Amino acid sequence: MTGSVVTNWLGIKDNDLVFTIGQPAKFKDAGVTRGFCSHCGSSLTYEATRFPEYIQVHIGTLDNPNTITPRAHVHFAEKVEWFDVNDRLPRFEGSAVGVGVDWKKF
Ligand SMILES: [Zn+2]
Repeated sequence: MTGSVVTNWLGIKDNDLVFTIGQPAKFKDAGVTRGFCSHCGSSLTYEATRFPEYIQVHIGTLDNPNTITPRAHVHFAEKVEWFDVNDRLPRFEGSAVGVGVDWKKF
């Protein structure tokens, strides 16, 4: 949980992620590991045993979030009613993991 009604993630191969300064503090529970900045507590990463080869990184924590192009909305069924989405990106009711999505097509 981030405490936010909206969050955005960059899913990358675990081996491709490099922290240049320190390592995140970890919180583990029920097959999920969340990484936090050990200095200020900002949420940094999300790892789940159901997709072990990937790590999700909060896009807002990247040095340059503008280099990321959004590809889809996930867990769209959980969206708060007052948040208006005005783009044409694909929308998944739940997770896009395990539903056969070829992300290279987006
Ligand atoms: Zn920090």
